[in-house]
Amino acid sequence: TRRRKKRILILISDTGGGHRASAQALAGLIGRQHGESIEVSIVDVWTNYAPYPFNRMVSQYRYMQSRPLLWGTMYRTSAFPPTRFLFNSAQRLLAKSGIRACIAQHEPDLVISMHPLCQTVPLQALASLAHDGPSPSSVAGGEARGRVPFVTVVTDLGAAHPLWLHPGVDLCFVPSSSFVRAAKSKGLTDAQLRLHGLPVRHDFAVQRRRGAAARRELGLHADRKTVLVVGGGDGSAASSEVSAAILDCHADLGKRGEPVQLVVICGRNARLQQQLRETEWAPSIHVVVEGFVTRMSEFMAAADCLITKAGPGTIAEASICGLPVMLSGRAASLGPHLPGQETGNVRHVLSNGFGAYSRNPRTIAATVSRWLSSPSELQTLSRNARAASRPGATADIVRDVLRLLEDR
Ligand code: UDP
Repeated sequence: TRRRKKRILILISDTGGGHRASAQALAGLIGRQHGESIEVSIVDVWTNYAPYPFNRMVSQYRYMQSRPLLWGTMYRTSAFPPTRFLFNSAQRLLAKSGIRACIAQHEPDLVISMHPLCQTVPLQALASLAHDGPSPSSVAGGEARGRVPFVTVVTDLGAAHPLWLHPGVDLCFVPSSSFVRAAKSKGLTDAQLRLHGLPVRHDFAVQRRRGAAARRELGLHADRKTVLVVGGGDGSAASSEVSAAILDCHADLGKRGEPVQLVVICGRNARLQQQLRETEWAPSIHVVVEGFVTRMSEFMAAADCLITKAGPGTIAEASICGLPVMLSGRAASLGPHLPGQETGNVRHVLSNGFGAYSRNPRTIAATVSRWLSSPSELQTLSRNARAASRPGATADIVRDVLRLLEDR
């Protein structure tokens, strides 16, 4: 009889677009390299296997993203040890059996978590499955070894929320040294930690066409300076602020005389897309409005700079493309930083010198205008972006994961 393919189960929640994009990056590369012997499933385990209210996490997250104060409170509450304990207990009580059913149904040889809420309960579910009847791949050993191997791949850049970091994992892949420090303080050891960067899709690592050639390929004006605006994977970035930034940018750039084009990617935010398509733009500026695009690497290769919210995936991709990043914030009421995980992403861009951050659309427009009229500044930002990037992250993570899979 033919041996069955090995199975890898990737657990995520579709809160934002970044978790799935990173999961697809890993699954895509494993499929290309070992499609005949390894099968990868990506499952939004909370939506599909947990009871109410956990199965509504995606829409709850979307709701909270446009209410930064609420999101900031939620983020801090789930990080603070006593409330984190209560939070974990509620999840375990209500959702463990569903998550256990998900794992039992997929019969994985290895589990990868790519979401902060996919450590604690899935690890407990795996341990209880191993206790009831060890899977063939499990070997004797400590708690982390008596079951199917479990790894975490972190998909945030800078701010290390403690829910990401569980000492019971076999390996934990982190994107930055600040995560290494945080992980050690949570009891993870050097042997468990791997610092490779954030996994991004393969096409970012193999990009060929750049600048005018890439613009021509996308049907854009080849000879115009190009500003790319990305409003987040699920378009959860507040549409009014993104639009305001675009309008200001347009006014500012239009004044300078040099022909510019704006390419606005609305992700899955259909309302923003429609709103922008109905806007009458001055003839001095060429505006292209897109919905969800799959050719993000080509759009980034075609652009001179990027305006975006502080999403880790988009920042890591832009960094590989050498694209200066203007971060627009939504937390106007909360002082100098965005709440929650995006604070660390902002810090990553600023401390590596490849962009700027502002909550003010006028400042955003003025900064982008200045960049476009200063080739040397654009060049420096671009060089810094590339220096901070880790285009090999996906391949490095896949290599280590497969080694762990073979070892079992
Ligand atoms: N993205 C895409 N097409 C779109 C909009 C976004 O492929 O039309 C991708 C983007 O390239 C990135 C992900 O969606 O990989 C968004 O993830 P990020 O971590 O930046 O933000 P999140 O949406 O998770 O907050």
